[in-house]
Amino acid sequence: MRRRVSIFGATGSIGENTVDLIRRQGGVETFETVALSGGRNVARLAEMARELRAAIAVTAFPDRLEELRAALAGSGVEAAAGPAALAEAADRPADWTMSAIVGAAGLVPGLRALAHGGTLALANKESLVCAGPLMMGAARRHGACIIPVDSEHSAIFQALAGEDRARVERVIITASGGPFRDWPLERIARATVAEAVAHPNWDMDQRISIDSASMFNKALEIIEAKEFFGFRPDQIEVLVHPQSIVHALVGFRDGGLMAHLGPADMRHAIGYALNYPDRAALPVERLDLAAIGALEFRAPDTARFPAIRIARSVMETGGLAGAAFNAAKEAALDAFIAGRIGFLDMARCVEAAVEAMSAAGDLNCDTIDLDKVVQTDHLARIRAEEAAARSRPD
Ligand code: NDP
Repeated sequence: MRRRVSIFGATGSIGENTVDLIRRQGGVETFETVALSGGRNVARLAEMARELRAAIAVTAFPDRLEELRAALAGSGVEAAAGPAALAEAADRPADWTMSAIVGAAGLVPGLRALAHGGTLALANKESLVCAGPLMMGAARRHGACIIPVDSEHSAIFQALAGEDRARVERVIITASGGPFRDWPLERIARATVAEAVAHPNWDMDQRISIDSASMFNKALEIIEAKEFFGFRPDQIEVLVHPQSIVHALVGFRDGGLMAHLGPADMRHAIGYALNYPDRAALPVERLDLAAIGALEFRAPDTARFPAIRIARSVMETGGLAGAAFNAAKEAALDAFIAGRIGFLDMARCVEAAVEAMSAAGDLNCDTIDLDKVVQTDHLARIRAEEAAARSRPD
C-alpha cells in the first residue's frame, strides 16, 4: 500500500524540499498524495499536483482559484481555495502530513491533520508558539506523532532518542547569528530589507531570513522547544555558532553533552521526519570536518538582538502570550518589509504590543482554545500596528 501524504505549504522552501525527497523516494510509486497547498504561486502548485497526482490542490487565496482551476484543467486534480478549504483538505485522512505553511496560517491545517492519528512533520513552528498546549493535547488525544522539522528541534529530537527526558539538564539551540552577527547596533538600526535577507548559511525565503537576522526566528524556536519537549525556560539556552554545523546540543545530568551535526540542508530534518523511525539514505552533503577545521561558539548579545530576551518574558507570562508574540512579530515584519519601520523597531513594536496586552489582562487564560488564539492574534496585530505607527524608520 502506498503511503498517503499531504503537504501544506508545498510551494515554499520546505515544501519544495519535501517534494524533492518524495520524488527521490519513488514519487507516485511509493506515495499517494492526498492534498497539496500553496499560496500565490498557483502555477507551481498545479505543476506539483500534476506530477504527484494529488487528489486536491488548495491555494490559500480565493482570488487565485480561477487561475488554479485553469492550470489544473484536464488533470483530474480537484482545485479549491481559502482557509476553510485548507482546513477541509487537512481533514482528508493521510498517514504523513507536512505542515510547512509560513506563519499563524499554518495552525489550523496542522491541528486538523493531527486528528488522523498519523505523523505530523512540523516545520510551522508558529503553531507551537501560538497554541502549543492545543497542538500537543490534540496529538495525545488522537495518538498522533509530531516530528519537529526545524533543524534545531530535529537535532534535539534525535539526540534524545532512547534517552529518559527526566535526565536532561539543559538543551542548547544554536544560532548562526545571521548577517548582522558582527554589526554594531547603530548599523543594525539602519539595516535594509535586502541586507537582512542575505543569510550567510541557509537559503531561505524573505520572511524567515529577516526573522533570522533579527533573531526572532531563534526566539520562536526557544518557545517551540518549551512547548514541544516540555523543558522549563531556564533549561533552554541559545549559543551563537557561525558555521551552522552543530544544530543543537542536549546536556544530561551527568554532565554529558550530545551534539547533532549536519550540513545546512533542510532535507536532512525533512527526510528524518519522512522516514522516522527508519533512517533512509538522504541526498545531503557529508560533512568533512577536517576541511571545516574549527567550530566557534559564543554567547548571544541580547542588547543587539532583543528578541531572545522578549521570548523569555513571553514564556514567563504564559497563557496567550505566545500567540500575541507571534502575531505582533508577523505584523512588525510586514511593517519593516513595507519600509514603514526600521529594523530595530520590530522588537520595539513586538514588546510594546505584548506588554500592552499583558497589562490589559488580554493574555490571561487557563485553557487555550482556537477561538482565543485567533482573537489574541487579531488584537496583537492591531497593537503592533499602533506601535509601528508611533515609530519612524531609524
Ligand atoms: P516559504 O515562505 O518558502 O513557504 C511558505 C508556504 O506557505 C508557501 O507554500 C506559501 O505559498 C504558503 N503560504 C504563504 N502565505 C500563506 C497563507 N496566508 N496561508 C496559507 N499558505 C500560505 O516558507 P518556508 O518554507 O521557508 O517556511 C515554512 C515554515 O517552516 C515556516 O513556519 C518556517 O518558520 C519553517 N521553517 C523553515 C525553514 C527553512 O529553512 N526555510 C527551516 C525551519 C523551519 P506561496 O509560496 O505559493 O505563496
